[in-house]
Amino acid sequence: MNESTESKAPFDPTVAALPSRKSEIARLKIAQLSLESGLSLEDILREICIVSSDYLDVARVGVWLMDEQRTLLKCIELFEKSGERAHGALLRVDEYPRDFEALRNRKVVSAEMAHHDPLTSELLDAYLLPLGITSILDAPIYVAGEVIGVLCSEHIGTAREWSTEERDLLASMADMLAGKIRAAEVHQLRSLLELSDDRLMKLEKSEALAKMANEIAHDFRNILSIIMNCAESLGLKGVDDSQMKELILSSTRRGIALAKELNDFGKDTPNRPVVIDVGTELKNALLLVQTALGAEYRVDLQLEQNLGKILMDRNEFQRVLINLVLNAKQATPNGGTIDLRAMRWRANQDTRTHSVAIEIRDHGCGMSDDTKRRLFEPFFTTRPDGTGLGMPIVQRIVQRAGGDIEVESQEGVGTTLRIILPLVAH
Ligand code: ADP
Ligand code: MG
Repeated sequence: MNESTESKAPFDPTVAALPSRKSEIARLKIAQLSLESGLSLEDILREICIVSSDYLDVARVGVWLMDEQRTLLKCIELFEKSGERAHGALLRVDEYPRDFEALRNRKVVSAEMAHHDPLTSELLDAYLLPLGITSILDAPIYVAGEVIGVLCSEHIGTAREWSTEERDLLASMADMLAGKIRAAEVHQLRSLLELSDDRLMKLEKSEALAKMANEIAHDFRNILSIIMNCAESLGLKGVDDSQMKELILSSTRRGIALAKELNDFGKDTPNRPVVIDVGTELKNALLLVQTALGAEYRVDLQLEQNLGKILMDRNEFQRVLINLVLNAKQATPNGGTIDLRAMRWRANQDTRTHSVAIEIRDHGCGMSDDTKRRLFEPFFTTRPDGTGLGMPIVQRIVQRAGGDIEVESQEGVGTTLRIILPLVAH
């Protein structure tokens, strides 16, 4: 005999599961997604962004995760209300100290007036203004007691407030996301980060090399300056071997120029990535490029519409262009046309999202197999007055922005250098 069960209403699972509010529907949607049912971590991340964007009615929701060293923050998924997606942009954690400190200390970081909020204002010029973002709600993603990333929702338009319920929802989305990440295999997370050991090692190696170059350049330049001064004063004392004097002076001048280039290569000015519109930036750089090339060369600029926006230091962007364009010029000593193209790029059918590709093509001497293989080796050059630092500089800048470089070249036909960069907005 069981009187107590008889007196209660019978248990109805459909009623019990029925969410009463929109936020509960959103939570339920995510709770029901599981890796066991064959979904990938990537599918789940995307769903979390879509559901959050829908519930909060915000223009952009993104997931950014840190690498194991906690120095880089990578955009793993970005969903825009228009339906566009992107991934791959990189930020250095030490560039935004206040923002990250805030994430470590709170369950959600909310900035109704993001432009004026001390927590988010360090993002103002680089990120908020160019994207038109006015209000931000961020939730840290905690795994094993540590912040490993952040779920960001970004509102565009008139600044808005975030209700308690909205804050709670984003925080619980971040918690659910953390749960899914814990449940996923380590290799799944790594492949999502696309930060293989090899890639990280290359990045670290080029940073270490740059530091060394900087130190050498400093001493080198001092020594050369002394020689230069001596050579000049020898001239004043009436040494008449003018050919010798000229040689000393010109070699020293060249040495100083090399030291300057070494120094530039190694320069660790904190790079200030900002959101830049690729099309606008390329159009603006045209004059610079044409000037660097001179009158014997014509730049054929062809840009697709709506190339999108990237996160990159503006000076570094120009430095990449100039280096590649000058190489193209040197490969085509008698002048000619250099093609500058930019297009939306998808590496292959399986690639999740679009990136942007910038191509510099010349119809010059092309590269031998050996040159192609050694192209990014520091100090590798085939030119008598080359330094072999141009391509390593380009590679370092592109890697720092989360991008890739592809080379197509055929001897006697020409070369195409393709820079592929991740988008942060369409
Ligand atoms: P540098 O220009 O000082 O030689 P880089 O690092 O810029 O150093 O380039 C290294 C080498 O790569 C060049 O010396 C050249 O042999 C080769 N190279 C680079 N770009 C091109 C190109 N567009 N066409 C042919 N060869 C190229
Ligand atoms: Mg060069």
